[in-house]
Amino acid sequence: MRLPAILQPRVLREALASLFSKPFTTRFPDEPFTPDEAFRGRPRFVEEGCVACGACAQVCPPKCIEVIDDLDPRRPTRTLIQHLDACIWCGQCERHCPTGAGIELTTEWEFLGVRPEDFEERVQKELLLCEVCGGPVAPTDQLRWLYRRLGPIAFANPTLLLVALRDLGTLDASVKSASAEVQRADRLRMQCPKCRRSTSYVA
Ligand code: SF4
Ligand code: SF4
Repeated sequence: MRLPAILQPRVLREALASLFSKPFTTRFPDEPFTPDEAFRGRPRFVEEGCVACGACAQVCPPKCIEVIDDLDPRRPTRTLIQHLDACIWCGQCERHCPTGAGIELTTEWEFLGVRPEDFEERVQKELLLCEVCGGPVAPTDQLRWLYRRLGPIAFANPTLLLVALRDLGTLDASVKSASAEVQRADRLRMQCPKCRRSTSYVA
């Protein structure tokens, strides 16, 4: 005759062993729960490490990171908003961040909220605009990060050279042609790639 499951030796052994061993379950919510260090919890932007390049938004599978460029010439900015309610905790943003320090998956796992903003994570950076057409060039921090990383070869690129000279304080104002037309002298103005190409070919 087949014994009931509870009386089978293997099950009895396990039942007795678990009576005298530490429980595997946690005591949450009576005691706070601290997950393992490798746990993939809430992603958080790191203000100092993020250069607002937007790479994380491109690799995010559910597209839960928004990139918003505000081209107001008085205060142009790029804002990145991560919508936690759409996040799948995959860690691709952290893995592909070029600086390696712009976003990190924390071990935070418990969060409550009632408004959409309660599930948002934001970072905002200054955006450089083209001095010819007013379009976006790139976030200033991204260009700084690039010239520091490239070293002397960065100075082959006029945009990186201009940002470096401005940071050094050796370029108070950009050279600007007197003409209403875009001239070769305008190459020493901050330009988007499209305008830079057109000024490169002006006679
Ligand atoms: S620096 Fe990293 S975190 Fe910041 S926008 Fe780029 S990829 Fe995203
Ligand atoms: S963890 Fe994955 S889903 Fe969440 S923001 Fe990063 S890339 Fe997107």
